[in-house]
This record gives sequence, C-alpha cells and structure tokens, in this order.
Amino acid sequence: AVEIRGVRKAFQGAVALDGVSIDVPDGSFFSLLGPSGCGKSTLLRVISGFESPDAGTLHIAGRDMTDTPPNRRPTAMVFQRWALFPHMNVRDNVAYGLRLRKTGKQRIRARVDELLALVGLEEHSAKRPSQLSGGQQQRVALARALAIEPRVLLLDEPLASLDLKLRLQMQLELKRIQREVGTTFVFVTHDQGEAMTMSDAIAVMKDGRVQQIGSPQEIYDEPRSAFVADFIGDTN
Ligand code: ATP
Ligand code: MG
Repeated sequence: AVEIRGVRKAFQGAVALDGVSIDVPDGSFFSLLGPSGCGKSTLLRVISGFESPDAGTLHIAGRDMTDTPPNRRPTAMVFQRWALFPHMNVRDNVAYGLRLRKTGKQRIRARVDELLALVGLEEHSAKRPSQLSGGQQQRVALARALAIEPRVLLLDEPLASLDLKLRLQMQLELKRIQREVGTTFVFVTHDQGEAMTMSDAIAVMKDGRVQQIGSPQEIYDEPRSAFVADFIGDTN
C-alpha cells in the first residue's frame, strides 16, 4: 500500500499540496482526479521522490520512504509524452532499466519477450519509436516502466495526447494490463469519465486538497461537496 499522510508542498510560497492524506491499497487501480493546477503531478512526484514534501510522511509497502531518493524507491513513472529513447528500438527501450540494473542477458531477453507479449508488441520489437503509432508508443512506455517490476506504477495523464478513439481503446488495455500484472497503479487524469470507468477508487482533488475519496459509484451517488458533484457530473 501507499500511505500518504499530511503532505504539504509549496513553491515560492504558492501552496501546491495542502495537507494531503491518501491510502492506496495494494493491487488497486487508483486515480487522482481534479482540474488543472490542483496538485496531481506534484503528488505523483512526491510519491516517486522527485519532489520532497515540506511536511508529512510517505510509506510504501510499510516502509517510511519520505526521505528515500527516487532510485531507491519501488516506483516507476509513465508520462503523457512518453519520453522513449528515439535512437533505440522497442526491445532496447524496454530493456533499458534491466540493463542499468546489470540483469543477465538471458534474463533480460526472457523478461522483454514477456513484456512485449503483455502489451501486444511482439511484431514490432525491432522498430524505432518514430515508426510506431501513438498508442503503440504508449505501450512501449508502459512495458519499459513495468520491466523493473515496480510495486507502484505512477501514470501522469498517459492517455491525454491520444485521439478519442485510441484513448478509449487504451483505457481498456491499461485496465487489462493492471489486472494481469497486479501492480498498484496511481493514475492521474483530469478526465472524470476516464477516472470513472477505470478506477477501483478515486481521490478528487481541488487546490491542493483531497475533496473526497471513494469508489466511482460512491463518488457519483454521494458527492460530499458541490465541487465534487459538479466536477463528476460535468462529463465532456
Ligand atoms: P495539470 O492538470 O495542469 O497537469 P496538476 O494538477 O498536475 O495540473 P501541478 O503540476 O501539481 O498540478 O501543480 C500544482 C500547483 O503547483 C500549480 O499551481 C503549479 O503552478 C505549482 N507548481 C508545480 N510545480 C511547480 C514548480 N516546480 N515550481 C513552481 N510552481 C510549481
Ligand atoms: Mg499535471
């Protein structure tokens, strides 16, 4: 589980996170939902360790990781712009983290094959990112992030730059993959429909605070504030 307690973060006096407490259960698909500027990306960076909180604590799998450097945390990140290595083919992109960890060649080959099958890219392993569609590139990014077997995968609006049809298709794919690997996903989106269809639980955020945490059904049926009701009802 990821346990976030009373996390605060300000940038030059501007408060980005204002006392955030969230429990993310192991193996769940958990979404952070809220409008632009509410602190979603900052919270992901606090979980990954690229930002340290001014106050509060973070535990992952029962261990206090508040001051643990990013490379010592059991987390991996997927971004909206996938940040694939353009000069490497699909196989080498996926293998990257394993090579850094000095994993043996045989093991890397087996693991990469397994990941390419998971995301349905077996046929494309020799291609460069520029030879792939947006959805395929996103699958490579996902496989690369999962290669190191993180306990927690952090996804910052990973589908936001895809067109609508592909986005809906990738929503189902992401959900299937999460179920298959059982890794905890913390998924950031400002799209209420996306959060509703994909999540086991959602934290609705506004101005650096958590407004409500619950299952999609709970949040839809019993919004605890006018903001949550408006934001959830406002499907676009
Ligand atoms: P979006 O949906 O637009 O990505 P977000 O919910 O991810 O928004 P954050 O990026 O977490 O929001 O930003 C929260 C607040 O903190 C914003 O007011 C933002 O301007 C501010 N902020 C974030 N990072 C920094 C930084 N490095 N320096 C200064 N201010 C920052
Ligand atoms: Mg953001």
